[in-house]
Amino acid sequence: MNERLDGPAPLEPMPTDWQRALAVVAHPDDLEYGCAAAIADWTDGGREVVYLLATRGEAGIDTIDPAACAPLREAEQRASAAVVGVPTVEFLDHRDGVLEYGLDLRRDIAAAIRRHRPELVITMNHRDTWGGAEGGGHWNTPDHKAVGRATLDAAGDAGNRWIFPELLTEQGLEPWDGVRWVAVSGTTTPTHAADAGPGLERSVTSLMEHKAYIAALTDEDPEAYVRAFLTGNTQQAAARFGGRPAVAFEVFPR
Ligand SMILES: [Zn+2]
Repeated sequence: MNERLDGPAPLEPMPTDWQRALAVVAHPDDLEYGCAAAIADWTDGGREVVYLLATRGEAGIDTIDPAACAPLREAEQRASAAVVGVPTVEFLDHRDGVLEYGLDLRRDIAAAIRRHRPELVITMNHRDTWGGAEGGGHWNTPDHKAVGRATLDAAGDAGNRWIFPELLTEQGLEPWDGVRWVAVSGTTTPTHAADAGPGLERSVTSLMEHKAYIAALTDEDPEAYVRAFLTGNTQQAAARFGGRPAVAFEVFPR
């Protein structure tokens, strides 16, 4: 066996026969670090993408009290979303840093899936460790794991009228069994990829909208830091995608 010839399997192109996506993550900036380049390209093509955040990321900046941090990070998230053509950003108001996988989270995400009726659901790494250029072996955080797992489960919950029946009786949300894929960014075991070329510049601008967060995180020039991070990730995926910069996803069909 020749390892260089065998190499890792090529990533499949992401499905394109869909119109609506719902992206569900734990914190402001998760989508910008993960997959905003792909989202920019999808909205350019006339697709609708809605963001759903489980928290406002209020525990994310050491030097800013959560009460002051929540509105700041919410505003930065809305600005980031607007850069990549996403006008709707919703927050579930779970508490940052102590998210728990469980029925409350599954129910809240299932409700959003019923409201927005997406064919594609996007989330972030539910696995114990990170993939991506800088990931290698780093432990994932509890919030990401909880939201990722709850989102994968909620894609099914949303379609079953007997799971969380109160969503129909109390909120009038009919079951939606139309989710065809859940695509997870940042995993150690991607299966698919989307071309990052067309959206890469806007993904840089989008991540840079998290000004307060990045200023607290690094002394580097913000643009240099952001560009290096996003370029590194898209180049790593390129090695399995015909050499084209790409955003990698692990896709779970339904
Ligand atoms: Zn996060």
